[in-house]
Amino acid sequence: RKGCVIITGASSGLGLAAAKSLAETGKWHVIMACRNFLKAEQAAKSLGMAKENYTVMHLDLASLDSVRQFVETFRRSEMPLDSLVCNAAVYLPTAKEPTFTAEGFELSVGTNHLGHFLLARLLLDDFKKSDFPLKRLIIVGSITGNTNTLAGNVPPKANLGDLRGLAGGLNGVGSSSMIDGGEFDGAKAYKDSKVCNMLTMQEFHRRYEETGISFASLYPGCIAETGLFRNHIPLFRILFPPFQKYITKGYVSEKEAGDRLAQVVSDPSLSKSGVYWSWNSTSASFENQLSKEASDAEKARKLWEVSEKLVGLA
Ligand code: NDP
Repeated sequence: RKGCVIITGASSGLGLAAAKSLAETGKWHVIMACRNFLKAEQAAKSLGMAKENYTVMHLDLASLDSVRQFVETFRRSEMPLDSLVCNAAVYLPTAKEPTFTAEGFELSVGTNHLGHFLLARLLLDDFKKSDFPLKRLIIVGSITGNTNTLAGNVPPKANLGDLRGLAGGLNGVGSSSMIDGGEFDGAKAYKDSKVCNMLTMQEFHRRYEETGISFASLYPGCIAETGLFRNHIPLFRILFPPFQKYITKGYVSEKEAGDRLAQVVSDPSLSKSGVYWSWNSTSASFENQLSKEASDAEKARKLWEVSEKLVGLA
């Protein structure tokens, strides 16, 4: 049978390119888990994706109710769950003030980390029912959260501190809207959320390795033209793609990045669990090193426990 993969945020950028890449193989049915149903449907159509290879399902990660509703809808569809890709993200680098999810968490960490954390935790049960040989749970990471890289050292740097803001509810009222308890900074909140994504993948690996699910994260390269940068200043959006192409040489097209993510979903040679995948200049995949903070096992455990409380699992 075909594999069934859920990809969050498959209405644009990396998620859409990976959805197309997997659907085209004829070996995967892609559930496009998106907040904008119409946009997702139109995006799939405009790329010529065949109707029998995908299903659009509503998911707004900025609402935990919506996450729970999505899981219900998916279960009712009676499709198997063989692979889950937590890809959706928001990036708000120019925001002066924090904005919040339905439950009142700062939007970047609430969407990118907490929404995905609840989704992945709830869907673990569904994975257990699958007889597929290659079960994978993939959380898209980023170089920007990795302070052992050049890009990760551009200020403001990611830093979760002792998680006091997160433990306080990240609501900007009684507690800070930042994980480390500091002043709101949209660019840092995004980077922090990506560190959470990478820590979460490793904690899943430590806790659930024996289930046979392979847990992985990746940095697909700098996809400088995606919607991720839609909230950035116009000059940045003009200069960023050539800068990445000719100066850092980290640039990758949406199609190439989508193919890389599709590889992590389906390539038998990338089935090792607990790995953060990257690609070198000749587009060969390799197991990359995470920064000290993004591989801190104690922090990963604490993040897991605090997140469980916030999303109502503990
Ligand atoms: P895009 O902005 O193109 O895609 C983000 C997707 O997330 C969109 O489909 C968007 O939906 C969706 N999304 C946002 N908020 C929500 C929400 N509340 N509920 C459900 N879906 C939501 O950006 P990219 O493709 O670049 O980003 C995809 C992933 O790649 C992210 O995890 C990002 O961190 C990562 N990444 C990107 C890099 C880059 O250079 N671009 C580099 C490294 C990692 P909608 O279409 O409705 O807006």
